[in-house]
Amino acid sequence: MYAEIIINSDALEIDKPFTYKVPSELQDKIGIGFRVKVPFGPKSRPIEGFVFSILQEDDLINFNYRVKEILNICDDYAILTNYDMEVIKFLRRKYLCKFIDAIRLMIPVGIMKGLREKKKKVVLVNEEIHEDQLDKENYKKLYDFVASNNGIYTKTEIVSNGCFSLYLLNKLIEKGILKTEEQTVFRYNTRIYDTDSNKKLTREQENCLNTILNSPDQKYLIKGVTGSGKTEVYIRLVEEMLRQNKSTIVLVPEISLTPQMIERFKGRFGENVALFHSRLSDGERFDEWYRVKEGKAKLVIGARSALFLPLQNLGLIIIDEEHENTYKSEHNPKYHTREVSEFICEIKDCKLVMGSATPSIESYYKAIRGEYKLIEMHKRTNGKEMPHMEIVDMREELKSKNLSLFSRKLLAEIEATLKDKKQVILFLNRRGYSTFISCRSCGYVFKCPECDVSMTYHKNGYLICHYCGRAEKSKTVCPKCNSKYVKFFGAGTERVELEVKKYFPKSRVLRMDVDTTRHKNSHESIYNCFKNGEADILIGTQMVSKGLDFKNVTLVGVLAADMSLNLPDYRASERTYQIITQVAGRSGRGEDEGKVIVQSYTPNHYSLKCAQEEDYESLFKEEIKIRRLMENPPFGKILLIVGSSKFEEKLTKFMYTLEADLKKLVVDDLTILGPVPCIISKLKENYRWQIIIKGNFDDEFSEKVKDTLYLLNKSVYNEIRVSIDINPNNMT
Ligand code: ADP
Ligand code: ZN
Ligand code: ZN
Repeated sequence: MYAEIIINSDALEIDKPFTYKVPSELQDKIGIGFRVKVPFGPKSRPIEGFVFSILQEDDLINFNYRVKEILNICDDYAILTNYDMEVIKFLRRKYLCKFIDAIRLMIPVGIMKGLREKKKKVVLVNEEIHEDQLDKENYKKLYDFVASNNGIYTKTEIVSNGCFSLYLLNKLIEKGILKTEEQTVFRYNTRIYDTDSNKKLTREQENCLNTILNSPDQKYLIKGVTGSGKTEVYIRLVEEMLRQNKSTIVLVPEISLTPQMIERFKGRFGENVALFHSRLSDGERFDEWYRVKEGKAKLVIGARSALFLPLQNLGLIIIDEEHENTYKSEHNPKYHTREVSEFICEIKDCKLVMGSATPSIESYYKAIRGEYKLIEMHKRTNGKEMPHMEIVDMREELKSKNLSLFSRKLLAEIEATLKDKKQVILFLNRRGYSTFISCRSCGYVFKCPECDVSMTYHKNGYLICHYCGRAEKSKTVCPKCNSKYVKFFGAGTERVELEVKKYFPKSRVLRMDVDTTRHKNSHESIYNCFKNGEADILIGTQMVSKGLDFKNVTLVGVLAADMSLNLPDYRASERTYQIITQVAGRSGRGEDEGKVIVQSYTPNHYSLKCAQEEDYESLFKEEIKIRRLMENPPFGKILLIVGSSKFEEKLTKFMYTLEADLKKLVVDDLTILGPVPCIISKLKENYRWQIIIKGNFDDEFSEKVKDTLYLLNKSVYNEIRVSIDINPNNMT
């Protein structure tokens, strides 16, 4: 018997299965997915690996009699399933990663570090004892105490909680009246949440639920306005799955893994829920993984990596806010959650439900073509209209000498809201690195004439296009109106906080962004403070734009809608529409009607107009036209190659050679852009250059690109790092 083993190492040249002989004593223990130790390299150093496949002698093509033997197996169970192996192959082919990159996605780091399930020895009663063995009063007392908490406490806990002597306890164990047993304890969060009861579904919810449960389709897209009760539908779906003894994965964007979201699911399903996100410790992560593997948790809520948990009998994958860009991984494998979910649903024959108020252009395109079944929900469950949105033209503010971050309209609305004892959310999308430059007098934005994306200001005084590399000297006057009010925008949430305090010194202000939520529970405490009315104004980034359901918020202010509009990204308009709609959805969720004020220097931009009118269809029509014209997804793919190195000259030479090699591969209608320096042209002392290939190519072509790249990289592996990304989230 032989086994193909994937070696646990980052080296590129060993990214393939190696054949080993299975010693006879391991033959009935080993199987696909087992973690093993094998001798490797010229010195036959023992190294960790994973069984990729089991072969019989006949399967070996170039049989080599000197094939080495597996040393031992590391665990008494397979770490990976046969399904996992399919997913690993899929990830490697589609996202051009290494086997080991894909494997690492599926196993908790804890395993590698030797973490184990934690055991404790608990005390139980022996149910078969005779009544007259409990003739002494203290025997009976101790027996009853243990019986009432059967199997919860260790000896020490019984002694301290029940005030018994250890001597007595040991005596009863000795007599066989009590016994001890090893039990796995979990490090997961055991907090009890309020139980949330089922609500009577609205007609739209009912229809949505029934469609998903009763139609033969496999993939669904729910397009439902914010507050239409999608989450409630997810909960009912999970309930139905549990009834059928099937398990469910609920994926939410990392940032909306809010206490509120967790509360709703934990409140309904209690112990059945496993939580999986980036803030877990290695120990917690291992425990959740193990609990899922054992079938002890049939529902997982988590960020994208929860998709790879080993759930048994999976019936359903839900992707909430499917348009969110955190569903694309920025580390190897650079997978897209949606695409992998589709694959998993196909091989495991389960359903996929995606939901959003503002679906991604790609998904909606698939839905109208019939690849996903489209379900629409138009009404909020509270019967209220969507909040009224007003777009404020910030150029007018400038003309009136108002240079602050707030328009007069927004200031007046904040004041009125505070007076009414209602709450305000102020949103500033200060994400990413690049700022953009625009004229504060006419709204002109410096854009690349070739690519129609905004140019980025670089410290060396140049404006550079990050798609094609075009560079021009930055100007201090507006080329359109000659105004000197050419400014680049850099205000972040901290500055907003200071200004709010200046205008409204009596208001209580909270800020929620990466800086204020670093600590483990800070997110929850800010959330609770605001929910309990201990603050009047919540200022935040993306984090405040989704998942939050505060009944008392009646005003939402979007401070700089242009920020996302001018990102150097072909999805800028789509993103702006999504962000504004999402954050607007935080307003007016209670009894009182909500208002939204959007501040912009380009108030007539279609993505703002469409957001104001809740007109997704028009946005989609506009966007899909441009995508088709530019051959951007879903019509074409973008393959981004980034090279980085401390040696600038070597790097540029490498990138030009690569370009020449790639040119030989490229057929007719594919375009190669670059090589050019990346937006962030130097990062941690490394220079960065990129090449983009655009067009409608298949996996086979990308594989060839990868091979070309790796072949060239082999000789300079120590000096130049390369990465490949298909349809990257950002081009920085
Ligand atoms: P979405 O996920 O679409 O934004 P939610 O599921 O969060 O919507 O629902 C919005 C609000 O409406 C929540 O406060 C929720 O508790 C409430 N809700 C949902 N369904 C119902 C219902 N059928 N009846 C009454 N309230 C509901
Ligand atoms: Zn101007
Ligand atoms: Zn350009």
